[in-house]
Amino acid sequence: MFKNLLHYLNPIARLGIREYSYLLPFSVTTISAILVEVFVNGVLHNPEAVGLFAIFIFIALIIYFSFRDGTRGGFLTASLTIIYYFYIIYSRNYQGERLEVSIETTFVLAFLYFLLAGIVGWLKETIDTLIDREADEKRRLQTIIQQLPVGVIITDAKGFVVQANKQMERIIGKKFPDPFKVGTDSIVPAKKADGTDIEPSDSVLAQTLISGRVVVGKEFIIEKESGEKRFIQVSAAPVHNKAGKIIAAASIIVDITQQKELEARKDDFVNMASHELKTPITSMKLYMDVLMNRVKGYKDERIERPLINIKTQTNRLQKLVEDLLDVSRLQTGKLSFTKEEFRLDTLIDETIEVLQATTKKQTLTIVKEEPVIIYADKFRIYQVITNLITNAIKYSAGKDAIDIQVYKENDTAIVTVKDYGIGISKDQQDKIFERLYQVTDDTEKTFPGFGMGLYISKEIVVRHKGKIWVESEKGKGSTFYISIPIGKKT
Ligand code: ADP
Repeated sequence: MFKNLLHYLNPIARLGIREYSYLLPFSVTTISAILVEVFVNGVLHNPEAVGLFAIFIFIALIIYFSFRDGTRGGFLTASLTIIYYFYIIYSRNYQGERLEVSIETTFVLAFLYFLLAGIVGWLKETIDTLIDREADEKRRLQTIIQQLPVGVIITDAKGFVVQANKQMERIIGKKFPDPFKVGTDSIVPAKKADGTDIEPSDSVLAQTLISGRVVVGKEFIIEKESGEKRFIQVSAAPVHNKAGKIIAAASIIVDITQQKELEARKDDFVNMASHELKTPITSMKLYMDVLMNRVKGYKDERIERPLINIKTQTNRLQKLVEDLLDVSRLQTGKLSFTKEEFRLDTLIDETIEVLQATTKKQTLTIVKEEPVIIYADKFRIYQVITNLITNAIKYSAGKDAIDIQVYKENDTAIVTVKDYGIGISKDQQDKIFERLYQVTDDTEKTFPGFGMGLYISKEIVVRHKGKIWVESEKGKGSTFYISIPIGKKT
């Protein structure tokens, strides 16, 4: 109550509030004039004593009301004051020169009072307009944030959520708790996109606040209170002040459930189609072998050549279908490994022997010093090495050497495949390990392939807790490296 009264009377607290009163300045000024009259007549018994006393009180009132109620309040107070001054002049029966001087002085004072009320009142109204304009700007921004079709969360520098928009609440299915600090707990149960548990440090906003960097496109699976699961993609950026200090962080959350479902359906389709293709291709290969055995006796090039070509193409088709299946297994997390202990160097020897038969021009050479035994999925590692050597052959036509090395370094086995072919430019070197990525270069002739091999290889190596990388210079050749922990049976 007292606070409300103080707020009602305090002109500074009322800046920005455009409720200008007529009643308050009218009543306070009138009552003040009456009280002054009562005081000089009843207490002092000297109506002449009003002089300076009245000037100070009424100047104070004019300043106060013009600052509280704008020009209107100020002018009203000034008018009442002047009326009161005239009342004094006539009620005291001034005569002659004194009357003239008094009227003149009152006119001068009236001019000064109205000027004062005008300046202070104008100042107050200008401040109100400025505050209003800023509030408008803020409101507009708030409305935009609220209406955005993506979730938005804004935190202060300490990580406390200061705003979350409607879409965000729609995505998580509930209101944000207040206060809520990011990186401490999750509002709804959540997991990483690969299904593993999340740590508080996985909070994208917390990461942004700590590192001061933009974090882009992290995917999570959240469970709404209704039990419904949604895929979300979160990006966040810090907000710096002019001095470069982080003062806030903002993040954008997009519900990508539909997109994920579509992708899953597409993966299912690829998976089904490749499975369906596998059986007829296997039968075709079988019949090809039967046919080839039958025509062997004829020793007729005109029959054998086309048959060999058909077999080569069928093998390519089979490889393609197997790669497609692997990609879809990787996407759906269904690629499993059967690990065993085996000699990696021997496996590479055997692979080289098979692949050497596919190229006449290039000589595959292996350098190895000691047996390298690893515990891994033999077939999948064979697949990686085959892919690297096949690529080396494919992308270095016209050169005559491909050098392969296998050795141990501490607890890891390293394999390198070096060719002297077309090479890969620096900006493409990371991308070639992405799904379906192929270098497209107008100046080079296009090579057959789908950009699945290196993606599959990378996933296999990474899932063995290993690494795969490339060093290359355009036009000079490439060296692919894989390092795999030797791994022991425990
Ligand atoms: P692809 O079936 O197209 O060969 P990969 O995933 O095996 O698919 O390779 C992806 C891309 O990386 C290739 O399209 C090619 O541009 C590039 N690449 C792979 N290996 C080599 C290499 N040894 N030399 C030059 N470029 C290579």
